[in-house]
Amino acid sequence: MNVQDSEKMACLMEASGYKTTDNPGEADLIIVNTCSVREKAAQKAYSQLGRFRELKQKRRHLVLGVAGCLAQQLGDKFFKMFPFLDMVVGTHQIDRLPEIVASVSRSGGRLAETEFCGHVRSLDIPAQPLAGKVSSFVTIMQGCNNFCTYCVVPYLRGREQSRPLGDIVREVENLSLHGIQEVTLLGQNVNSYGKTLTQRADFAQLLEAIGKIPGIKRIRFTTSHPKDLSDTLISSFGRIQGLCEHIHLPVQAGSNKVLRKMKRGYTVEQYKERVAALRRVLPDISITSDMIVGFPGEEDDDFNQTLELMREVRFDGLFSFMYSQRKGTPAAEMEGQVPDEIKRERLNLLQSLQETHTLEKNRAIIGKTQEVLVEGASRKTPGDMTGRTRSNRIVNFTGGPELVGSMVNVKIVDAFSHSLRGEL
Ligand code: SAH
Ligand code: SF4
Repeated sequence: MNVQDSEKMACLMEASGYKTTDNPGEADLIIVNTCSVREKAAQKAYSQLGRFRELKQKRRHLVLGVAGCLAQQLGDKFFKMFPFLDMVVGTHQIDRLPEIVASVSRSGGRLAETEFCGHVRSLDIPAQPLAGKVSSFVTIMQGCNNFCTYCVVPYLRGREQSRPLGDIVREVENLSLHGIQEVTLLGQNVNSYGKTLTQRADFAQLLEAIGKIPGIKRIRFTTSHPKDLSDTLISSFGRIQGLCEHIHLPVQAGSNKVLRKMKRGYTVEQYKERVAALRRVLPDISITSDMIVGFPGEEDDDFNQTLELMREVRFDGLFSFMYSQRKGTPAAEMEGQVPDEIKRERLNLLQSLQETHTLEKNRAIIGKTQEVLVEGASRKTPGDMTGRTRSNRIVNFTGGPELVGSMVNVKIVDAFSHSLRGEL
């Protein structure tokens, strides 16, 4: 989502005459787009901003700004922490970026704009097909109404808002006309898409409509909340040809006690039942997930239940995090905060178990032929091209640059924990 917001900001500024550069030393405008879902992300943003202090001293006319969730959270407090900062742009103010930049450049003063709006106007800015790209993100909704007790998103991105189905379809049609073949639909909880629309629609209908757009060969989406994963949506997997055989279904914990305290709205049993339903429709569907270790009150027994769930489900991939206390969220005030050493220990155990599962899943594909959408040249190995399978696995293979943007069949010959090796 942040990547897409950054792209939107770049587009807006390009329309005002700016050009993007890879060299901060020659920039007239720098915006640090932040995330504050975990403390580590916030710290990264602070140190990035710190590094621009010197640049700002050398280039007086440089406009330096901060955007994203941290900007929303701290507002003008940012100016106290970083006196050389010129502007703070909240999550609902992105569309006003050119105006804010112009005002700051003209007056030489500072501006913090973090008001929440009933309608997030930046949602109406269509994604632009980036030159040479075959794949694009498309935001279908913003905000979240779930209030999981550990999470800052609903406070910093606001309440859930869906974009009208027609707008999304038109945007994808335009992307397709410009050579985009794969779209990833973005929302904090795509399964509840459409609830805020006057012209009611649901996510399965949206998938159906996008599935009919010529030229769109692959459809992905993230994130899907297990409590709202309907049977209709599950059946879409067998029905809509473009829909890739992969679902990211964050479970967060394998203990009912912890899930209850997280306010996730499902039990481990219900989660496993949804996984079984998905596998009934597509036995080989790739299932990835998010997991948090060290949530307040998590004991050894709860953690062992998380490992047990992983052994049962055997995720194709897993993003795992140490619980990070976020100010203003209910979990930050809960008793039984887990010490960092224990969180780290649990994370290591969990990640090494997952590594065995990922490898096992990847190795099972050796010898099979997979359809790969070629994205570009491999950054690591010259002469290699890289792309993804429908199950979202990275495949590297020997091939020429003329293949970029084409759909090729690749036979998998080797497997590692983060990628596959193939032959055309
Ligand atoms: N809307 C998505 C997730 C958004 S945040 C969903 O519900 O699945 C992405 C991931 O960050 C979450 O799935 C969760 O695993 C993790 N996360 C969120 N808040 C966190 C916190 N306070 N500490 C650690 N991990 C967190
Ligand atoms: Fe955060 Fe939960 Fe909403 Fe995901 S569903 S954004 S974890 S509150």
